[in-house]
Amino acid sequence: MNLDRDALFIGGEWVKPASDAVLRVVSPHSEEVVATVPEGTTADVDAAVAAARTAFDEGPWPRMSPAERIAVVEAFSARYAARLGEMADLITTEMGAPTSFSNLAQAPAPWMQIEAFLAVARELPWEEARPGALGADVVVRREPVGVVAAIPPWNVPQFTIMSKLVPALLAGCTVVVKPAPETPLDAYLLAELLSEAGVPPGVVSIVAAGREVGAHLVAHPGVDKVAFTGSTAAGRAIASVCGEQLKRVSLELGGKSAAIVLDDADLTATMEGLKFVALMNSGQACVAQTRILASRARYDEVVDALAETVAAMKVGDPADPETEIGPMVAQRQQERVEKYIALGQEEGARVVVGGNGRPEGLDRGWYVRPTVFADVDNRMRIAQEEIFGPVLSVIPYDDVDDAVRIANDSDYGLAGTVWTADHEAGLDVARRVRTGTYGVNTYTMDFAAPFGGYKASGVGREFGPEGLAQYTELKSIYTPLPEG
Ligand code: NAD
Repeated sequence: MNLDRDALFIGGEWVKPASDAVLRVVSPHSEEVVATVPEGTTADVDAAVAAARTAFDEGPWPRMSPAERIAVVEAFSARYAARLGEMADLITTEMGAPTSFSNLAQAPAPWMQIEAFLAVARELPWEEARPGALGADVVVRREPVGVVAAIPPWNVPQFTIMSKLVPALLAGCTVVVKPAPETPLDAYLLAELLSEAGVPPGVVSIVAAGREVGAHLVAHPGVDKVAFTGSTAAGRAIASVCGEQLKRVSLELGGKSAAIVLDDADLTATMEGLKFVALMNSGQACVAQTRILASRARYDEVVDALAETVAAMKVGDPADPETEIGPMVAQRQQERVEKYIALGQEEGARVVVGGNGRPEGLDRGWYVRPTVFADVDNRMRIAQEEIFGPVLSVIPYDDVDDAVRIANDSDYGLAGTVWTADHEAGLDVARRVRTGTYGVNTYTMDFAAPFGGYKASGVGREFGPEGLAQYTELKSIYTPLPEG
């Protein structure tokens, strides 16, 4: 199938890009070019912001009733649901996610988000009269924040677009999406579905481009709010620009989450769970729990069980339904992971599975060997820095207090899990770890509940009413006091 494109989706139309620059989408498995699409430039971003500005300042979208907007998003949701398989395939093609993960999460989770946001929007008091402290009612309205710049990363492209686009649309905002240069293809299908669903012209534009063009979008005076998911380094740069301009900003950033295995955990079930929470998307997940905390009493047992589990995982072609670990998205990411594997060895950690070198039978593609380090001290760089690949560190702890201390000894605070036979003990640990999300014997995100990070993992929350609130401004209208 020819996936090449020659137009950009700006202002509700397929337009000729401002320049001849192209993005070559390269298969991380074959290292061959699979598609060529326009690379957005600052001129394209200017056109997209101008369209969004006009649609916001003069167009119907922000002035429609919430119920009318909900109807359009419902139509979009139905169209999205019908194309999940196609969306999953595009994401596997462009960024190498194993097809099992694409069909489990990369495509269905965004659709589940749409449905969850619709449920929130149907119940939200968009305008309410509250009893005021002075005796008269106050009318409190939720109004759209304005033109939104939505900037996702490549690792879960639709997931991170949808968490911004859908609440923005429901609130009455207009949106410019800037997909990462590695993953423009899924966004083309998204544009088609939005168009078919009857989203008015100008309300959404999509311009895939690199970070300089992203920075131009962030600083653009026509943008009222920036919603970003990506690295903590880029998040800091974006936050400082938004701070200077007093723009609204929400940031979903990196993580270095810990999975705590308590002494009473059933190791067979725990390993099945850890396989997913630690290595989903080939380890390229912000919520990946790459620090495995095991008590000294059961340390060797946990290391052996994890080593056996990881060694048995199938590494290879992401299009193969049996594959559990695919390639890294790009050569630079493969090199980054290899650099950390070498660093772990220099720091004195012990490789029990994997290590540097190509996985057997794979003579091309940006593959690394899934690696488990034992004898890791939490202060080592491999335990503190986000590697963003299939590299796990098993860290010993003395008792539960020590496990909680180690889990919290991190610049990040995004996710975490505890594995135990005692649900109450698990909840107790969950309450003590300073992260925005946590799982007891599971890590299944629930899109009705807020998601986001403590500390360097971000600012703000996505999903649930809290996630929708990021796209509204609150207005209080005072009404006359009662006579007498
Ligand atoms: P990245 O920060 O390099 O890029 C993310 C996106 O921002 C890309 O579209 C990029 O082009 C753009 N960008 C980069 N610098 C920019 C700038 N100064 N101004 C505007 N746009 C800019 O991150 P990445 O390598 O693509 O993604 C991996 C990172 O994303 C990891 O750190 C991961 O933890 C994080 N992530 C976080 C979450 C979350 O919800 N917390 C989810 C997924 C990924």
